[in-house]
Amino acid sequence: TNIEREEVIDVHERFYEFIRGFRDRSGSYKYRERLKQMITMGQKSLIVDYNDLYLFDNRLARLLIDRPDEVLRQASNVVKEIVESEAPEYAETVEHFYVRIRALPRTVPLRRLRSEYLGKLVMLEGILVRTTPVKEKVVKAKFMHCTREHGCHKFDWPPEGELIGDVLERPPACPVCGSSSGTFRLLPEESKLIDWQRIVLQERPEEVPPGQLPRSIEVVLQDELVDTARPGDRISVVGIVRVRPDSVAKKKAIYDLYIEANHIEVSQKILEEVVITREDEERIRALAKDPWIHKRIIASIAPAIYGHWEIKEAIALALFGGVPKVTEDGVRIRGDIHVLIVGDPGTAKSQLLQYAARIAPRGIYTTGKGATAAGLTAAVIRDKTTGEYYLEAGALVLADGGVAAIDEIDKMRDEDRVAIHEAMEQQTVSIAKAGIVAKLNARTTVIAAGNPKFGRYLANRALADNINLPITILSRFDLIFILRDQPNPEEDRKLARHVLEVHRETEKTKPEIDPTLLKKYISYARRYMRPRLTLEASKLIEDFYVEMRRMSSENPEGPIAITARQLEALIRLAEAHAKMALRSEVTREDAEAAIRLMKTFLESSGMD
Ligand code: ADP
Ligand code: ZN
Ligand code: MG
Repeated sequence: TNIEREEVIDVHERFYEFIRGFRDRSGSYKYRERLKQMITMGQKSLIVDYNDLYLFDNRLARLLIDRPDEVLRQASNVVKEIVESEAPEYAETVEHFYVRIRALPRTVPLRRLRSEYLGKLVMLEGILVRTTPVKEKVVKAKFMHCTREHGCHKFDWPPEGELIGDVLERPPACPVCGSSSGTFRLLPEESKLIDWQRIVLQERPEEVPPGQLPRSIEVVLQDELVDTARPGDRISVVGIVRVRPDSVAKKKAIYDLYIEANHIEVSQKILEEVVITREDEERIRALAKDPWIHKRIIASIAPAIYGHWEIKEAIALALFGGVPKVTEDGVRIRGDIHVLIVGDPGTAKSQLLQYAARIAPRGIYTTGKGATAAGLTAAVIRDKTTGEYYLEAGALVLADGGVAAIDEIDKMRDEDRVAIHEAMEQQTVSIAKAGIVAKLNARTTVIAAGNPKFGRYLANRALADNINLPITILSRFDLIFILRDQPNPEEDRKLARHVLEVHRETEKTKPEIDPTLLKKYISYARRYMRPRLTLEASKLIEDFYVEMRRMSSENPEGPIAITARQLEALIRLAEAHAKMALRSEVTREDAEAAIRLMKTFLESSGMD
């Protein structure tokens, strides 16, 4: 219609004006410069900040959201024209320029995405959990049409522009002879192809309502966007909402929504999800000054659970974590503290783990079997309906930069038993299977629990005999605790009273520090604190380590070999203890706390 015609012209002109005339706050022509840079760098995408477009012409910006196909096509033409006039030789080498839009004013929560957004430009955020290998998609098809009357001839399809979406149907009629009968044959070698990849974006664990499964959506990446993100990455996607026939239902009336990406960004700042305001910061700083801050934090971990003070302390230290380091020759030393609890059934292991996952930034609670086929690390999986292989990230990759609470770790899959060594020490997951080769990040703290192999923990047997995990995995834990459920009238009465108070909801069982504030406190410490060892603390740790080694050499059959691993663990624990008070130095007190916990661990595992 006429109205549409007018708007089309308007878009082209307004977008041209925007590129040529937009000035940022400092007065410089931001997009003229970006365009120049694009040419000198040999790129073909111009990235536009949505907010700039909105400031320049809010009608155009709104039209972009409503009718992105049309506006982006025009915008791409504008870029092409400008490049043609400014660098004609370069323009000839590039078939298609892209205008990519970043940072829309709001994101659509994954579980709100419905058909009302069809054909619209949206922004979504989530974790990339799955990628397919790179394929080639036809964007301009070459068909061969043969009929009795006219013989055979070739034509391009679609006649104008490129294919939108990813379904290529048989053309309704031949643009050359006008006939719709005869045979139409696609000629892939003569068609124009671009790189194509499907990924799956999943809600971030912290956004999933309690007790529900995370939702996910497919996103199609094309051309330069392909392979720019890896499973486990947190990304934001700007793209157009499209539909395709449901592959399972096979009924033409059922469709799936998916996103055709226009732009994706990998989130760099690991802890940016927890928002800390100025006021929060003041409250955090004030809390840290409390001389009892360590006790108050520990008391705030699972307050409904009676006792288990050392375990709660270990969980607290793991939540804060030590300081990761890179040696001069580029070797990474992890800062993450891994904690394992081995214990009799019904000793609150699961409760402790669930609580830890809830207050940890980027916390995930899962079981050894894993919530998905990808398990704890990662897997190459074959899709039952399409037969296609894809790479899917498991829990330790999804919790990259955060904490994975793994319950019943002794039940993990055999593939994970192999891969978890690398994940816990080098903090990566490597996979090579069915043509997919990848190395994913797993800079994740593991807080795990396991049940004893014989149902109950047998005190007369060594730790390694009591749990169905190889020594090589056990040795990657900084601290291991053993929880035994033994009747003890006095303790039993205290536990009963505590549990009853929880049920009566008295003041006594309220957490010392509100969980929301504690989560912010932890994020803040993880983000900003990098405490350094003082000489005094170093000396204490050194002496204790030498003493441990001496004792273990007297008892060579001991359950845990004392190696430099324990030394690194002590340093991490002391650093985490300093972080808990937001200290920039690791003091004597911090070293003593680390030593105390290490002693508890060694004694309980029969090492003393
Ligand atoms: P596990 O995972 O060790 O088998 P659970 O975490 O499932 O044990 O705990 C079983 C139940 O017993 C939970 O409801 C838990 O709250 C309760 N419970 C066990 N130990 C304690 C404790 N020390 N204080 C309070 N409740 C406890
Ligand atoms: Zn024809
Ligand atoms: Mg349990």
